[in-house]
Amino acid sequence: MHELSIVMNIIQIAEKESAANNASAVEEIELDIGELSGIEPSAFDFAWEQAIKSSLLDGSARKINHIPGEGQCIECGAVFPMHRLYDPCPVCGEHFITITKGKELRVRSIVVN
Ligand SMILES: [Zn+2]
Repeated sequence: MHELSIVMNIIQIAEKESAANNASAVEEIELDIGELSGIEPSAFDFAWEQAIKSSLLDGSARKINHIPGEGQCIECGAVFPMHRLYDPCPVCGEHFITITKGKELRVRSIVVN
């Protein structure tokens, strides 16, 4: 499962961060997840619940910033909200789009103690 390997990756990042700070627990972790990142929220939550058991993220607070998708048309320059990766330009119908927001998938901050 795609989401599970992402959660495992986040746990590794948290472990490294804690080790670097001689911390034994993570108080809070904040994630940026874009609308166009390919993450399915319910699958992500399920993977999260399973994977963090007995990891140092168990019991930590999780904040998720959902970042809406945004694209810019290469043809006419229009900037518009994108909800799916292959949405065409709503102004001219062109499919050559630069994704300007919404591909984010990153750990924004970790609070350890
Ligand atoms: Zn256009």
